[in-house]
Amino acid sequence: MRGRNLRGELDTFLAGREQELINFRRDLHMHPELAFAEYRTTQRVAERLTAAGLVPSVLPRGTGLLCDVGSGDGPTVALRADIDALPVPDEKDVPYSSTVPGVCHACGHDVHTAILLGTSLFLAQQAEAGLLPGRVRLIFQPAEELPGGALEVMASGGISGVDRIFGLHCDPRLDVGKVGLKPGPITSACDRVTIRVSGPGGHTARPHLTADLVFALAKILTELPAALSRRIDPRSSLSLVWGRVEAGSVANAIPDDGVAEGTVRCLDEAAWHAAPDMIKSLLESVAGAYGVEAEMDYVRGVPPVVNDKISVQMLAEAAEGVLGEGAPVPTEQSLGGEDFGWYLESIPGAFARLGTREPGSAHLADIHQGTFDVDESAIGAGVRFLAATALTALWEGQRPVAGEALMAVNADN
Ligand SMILES: [Zn+2]
Ligand SMILES: [Zn+2]
Repeated sequence: MRGRNLRGELDTFLAGREQELINFRRDLHMHPELAFAEYRTTQRVAERLTAAGLVPSVLPRGTGLLCDVGSGDGPTVALRADIDALPVPDEKDVPYSSTVPGVCHACGHDVHTAILLGTSLFLAQQAEAGLLPGRVRLIFQPAEELPGGALEVMASGGISGVDRIFGLHCDPRLDVGKVGLKPGPITSACDRVTIRVSGPGGHTARPHLTADLVFALAKILTELPAALSRRIDPRSSLSLVWGRVEAGSVANAIPDDGVAEGTVRCLDEAAWHAAPDMIKSLLESVAGAYGVEAEMDYVRGVPPVVNDKISVQMLAEAAEGVLGEGAPVPTEQSLGGEDFGWYLESIPGAFARLGTREPGSAHLADIHQGTFDVDESAIGAGVRFLAATALTALWEGQRPVAGEALMAVNADN
């Protein structure tokens, strides 16, 4: 890799630090903190960074922090780890089980935090040795699960001046040492929609003298998803699916109000932005046809994470260089949400899945379950992968991009 033995340097670094990083993860695992309450976690990370000669800056709310490594000229690459836990009870019988009732690191964010800490310490050494061709912005982000922590980071200038950003997430279906990569969308958007309809109720014998609210609501429930599928690009895989509907109390009375709730999931960013207005106008036209009033309450979740192709190539190159030829494997798009998507609306970057399954293990506990745990050698693998990614992106970022050179030539003509 650029004539340097990065793999060997990482071996040496991890030989001295891997157990310490595992212990750090276990300490976080025993003391999980919920979204925007990650004070202790933030403090622990800040202490380690400061001891390494870095200068972390805690975010205004007091949880999460930013820290720059290196100050030289060249590009700036950001690495992000989320640090919050979930309101899920720990069901594991391990020495490092959660000590907080009802709260546990069931999404592996303790692992992400330990990986980014290890990467930070390695990159600090590189910077000291004058080997960092640019700057790395470390983002220890609070409240991914809320979601909203990414917006907090951005409001604090966390990605200003950043050319490219990378993040990763534990994947319990992938063996340790592998990384799952995918250009384009890798997670999806998920919003919540509530529709309330109202009209004059009455006797079921005389629907023409009332607004037949249950019939109108039924039309809305079926027409809305159907019309939407004809108005939005089908490649966006936008789906409106109802999860709750309620109206009326007795067989022979037309009620005067009703409610339906559902989710809107979407793989495409443009469609995600267009969805609320389109659903509202379709709702108004269907409700109007049956003479009922309709109101919509639309709660935004997160945008889809849409990976930049060049950034994914950098991830693949880094993984091959330090984890081996067969390390990068294709992964699928999930219908889950991840607030990393907010960053990628502003700057290019990519999000990877990091294998955390013990090879050959039959134990498969998914994330968000109280039994979720990882093969802790994933921490060392994660440090190798993330450090190599940052260095690859800095090296590549120094070269003129082929497309830009071409545009400059065309501009002259
Ligand atoms: Zn999660
Ligand atoms: Zn997560």
